[in-house]
Amino acid sequence: MSGFNTLAVHAGQHKDPHTGAVVPPIYQTSTFIQDGINVLRSGHEYSRGSNPTRDGFEAQLTALEGGAAGFAFASGIAAEDALLRAVLEPGDHIVLGADGYGGTNRLISKLHSKWGITSSAVDITNLDSVRAAVRPNTALLWVETPSNPLLGIADLAGWADIAREHGALLVVDNTFATPYLQRPLDFGAHAVVHSTTKYIGGHSDVLGGAVIVAEHLFRGQALAEAVGFQQFAGGAVAGPQDSYLAARGLKTLGLRMERHCASAAKLARWLDSQPEVTRVYYPGLESHPGHELAARQQRGFGGIVSLQLTDEPAARAFAESMEYFQLSVSLGGVESLVCYPREMTHASLIGTELEIPANLVRLSVGIEEPEDLIADLSRGLAAARNAAGPARTTCPQPAREPALQL
Ligand SMILES: *Cc1c(COP(=O)(O)O)cnc(C)c1O
Repeated sequence: MSGFNTLAVHAGQHKDPHTGAVVPPIYQTSTFIQDGINVLRSGHEYSRGSNPTRDGFEAQLTALEGGAAGFAFASGIAAEDALLRAVLEPGDHIVLGADGYGGTNRLISKLHSKWGITSSAVDITNLDSVRAAVRPNTALLWVETPSNPLLGIADLAGWADIAREHGALLVVDNTFATPYLQRPLDFGAHAVVHSTTKYIGGHSDVLGGAVIVAEHLFRGQALAEAVGFQQFAGGAVAGPQDSYLAARGLKTLGLRMERHCASAAKLARWLDSQPEVTRVYYPGLESHPGHELAARQQRGFGGIVSLQLTDEPAARAFAESMEYFQLSVSLGGVESLVCYPREMTHASLIGTELEIPANLVRLSVGIEEPEDLIADLSRGLAAARNAAGPARTTCPQPAREPALQL
């Protein structure tokens, strides 16, 4: 079988037989002419059901994740919603990793709860607590690793064992790692979800999501069939233009991830030695509690670094004062971004036991020159120094904070 970058460039990307165009055309069409009633010329009928550009992207991503089938959606959340609707029934329970994308928690607790779905949040790093949270009606376990925004590392094989013991499905949100760094299906997961908006698109210019499934029967139906039917009947599909942009980004994923990982490691080490920074969250640091597990389970440690500053004013000033690290939600693009998760992406958790600390900032490290990024971070830290509370600025060595356990 061909290697990652070869598959990324070629899988699903059929050259145009008519013109020889190296890049397959974007099939910007809603419908396909039939040669007779229900006699389909190339298998395509209507673009909600299938479209050649979407098919190409789905095949490309499925090959990279090592799945049986893949389905592209209008956004990451649309992909998550489709998967949940495809496999769950009213009364089902979900074991949900506590540290994860805020929107996943919101989707389940605010929308799916109306249809009788319940969930329990668990510490993703503690398999005993995962096992203890499983109930007789648990149909699904959902985990994100590395997690957002605390970069926790979950033992995928351990989670898969628990799912198998209970006949439940294991779903892994692989958005942060991408298939270049980690293939959850190889560890026994049944489905992978992606926000292709992030590293797969890679250029902050398209929204999208995907579900990739293993060959697996659940409640008597193949997962591929269940999710495929939900995609067609529910209709939250990726359009041809968006599918094209995601496929184009995916071709260079391996190259970009190498650079994201190398730069993030450099920046994490540098930040770890700065007095204004009380804690750095990056699985590539030996001090990270999930470091060894991540080294076994992933090809690299990823491009996201979170950090805590001395206090909330310092964190806010840091986030608002840089030039290359632009203040915005999202991540995974070629440009560096900085985000204040407590209020920007995880605001729905404020007031709950899962709320994000007020001094935490998340960086998505882009592919710019790392020296320029470090100079930018220095600017941010200078602003943080000026903004930090007076009691802290007089204290030359702020105490290191204990590891955050969620
Ligand atoms: C962004 C994100 C999502 C949601 O994806 P959208 O494309 O914004 O709908 C889900 N999971 C993770 C880990 C994300 O970062």
